[in-house]
Amino acid sequence: MGYNRGALNMLSVTEARERILSHFQITATESIPLIACVNRVLAIDIAAIHDLPFFDNSAMDGFAVRSEDISASRVTLKVVADIPAGSTPKVTLKPGEAARIMTGAQLPDGANAVIPVEDTDFHNRAAGTSAPEKISFERTLKAGENIRPRGMDIRAGEVVLKKGQTLKPQDLGLLAMLGFANVQVYRKPRVALLSSGDELLAVDAPLESGKIRDSNSYTLAASVESAGGEVIHLGVAKDTRESVEALFQKAISEDVDFILSSAGVSVGAFDYVKEVIEANGALNFWRVNMRPGKPLAFGKYFDKQFIGLPGNPVSAFVGFEVFVRPVLEQLSGKLGSSRRRIKVRSAEEIESDGRESYLRAKLHEENGVQIAELTGHQGSGNLLSLVQADALLIIPAGVKCVPAGQEVEALLL
Ligand code: AMP
Ligand code: MG
Repeated sequence: MGYNRGALNMLSVTEARERILSHFQITATESIPLIACVNRVLAIDIAAIHDLPFFDNSAMDGFAVRSEDISASRVTLKVVADIPAGSTPKVTLKPGEAARIMTGAQLPDGANAVIPVEDTDFHNRAAGTSAPEKISFERTLKAGENIRPRGMDIRAGEVVLKKGQTLKPQDLGLLAMLGFANVQVYRKPRVALLSSGDELLAVDAPLESGKIRDSNSYTLAASVESAGGEVIHLGVAKDTRESVEALFQKAISEDVDFILSSAGVSVGAFDYVKEVIEANGALNFWRVNMRPGKPLAFGKYFDKQFIGLPGNPVSAFVGFEVFVRPVLEQLSGKLGSSRRRIKVRSAEEIESDGRESYLRAKLHEENGVQIAELTGHQGSGNLLSLVQADALLIIPAGVKCVPAGQEVEALLL
């Protein structure tokens, strides 16, 4: 069986992704301090354990009053208490009485409305001014005005956050309001990352002839982290069986969900990654009918799942988005995907070679329609064109030409 049998013995993108995903299960959960919860995925539904607000309180700085005492003509009330935020009112308002009250302070019994201080003859007082003996004002007030009643926002028992949600800063605030000092979240997926190739230099090394800097380690580590995973850096393997094997050995001694590598899975004379997997594990597949990124390997090294991305920087990135991000999202228990797909129109005619293609494009809006323009030549080493792109246009398998103006699907970056 030759290597150039074309699409016949190659998996489609969808089939490859389904095969990969079927080998990963959701990770364990852990309880962690609330402060560490941003971007983590909730492992349980969160139900409020009490009403919010927990007590009737004032929405304004002003005076708590009985709406029955108020009429359209001028009213003067006796101020019988001063209620700062955080205190417990010690009075019950009787007819003709009011209490000074601050925003968020608990409403005294008997009161059913708050007159804002600006609407009384006690406005424009400096902070620290003690409460007056009387206040007068001239406006009507309905029962309930400027009051935030108990349970107005949330009722005890109400589910306010759902299992599978990725926690945002405001979610942390809500959990704090409800008294969750620790939260049950899914453990972060852990990924052992390696690059491979004799040509690779460290980012701080001077360039030498024939060498390039290892950029995939940075793109992929950041991608893993952006998808909620944790990276264990294995380093860079040389193009020898021993070196590749040594890094893979390191990976299996780590508590990781899978090994992620780039390069060395093609048909080059020094592409040992694939060989090492075949020798000490199992190769499920190593090519996908896509562009860029055909040489994409999936298998096991001993018992560890392994995903081998192509070496070219754009191919590695696209391979990550198409196959690895979904794995991380599945492992992390996340509901839905963080990458949105939308319909756009191509500004130009696009030729394709019949593989499912992911093309770098910039979007702009014209009359409510998203128009996509390619960001430059689509060589898989041209990282700048990816940097300038805000979407990957998806040209389906079998399509050789997309006319200008035709609708295509875009994966938003
Ligand atoms: P390979 O799959 O090993 O044939 O690599 C394909 C292309 O990707 C070659 O041009 C490599 O130099 C390049 N490449 C491989 N690994 C990296 C990396 N870590 N960073 C940047 N380019 C890489
Ligand atoms: Mg190589």
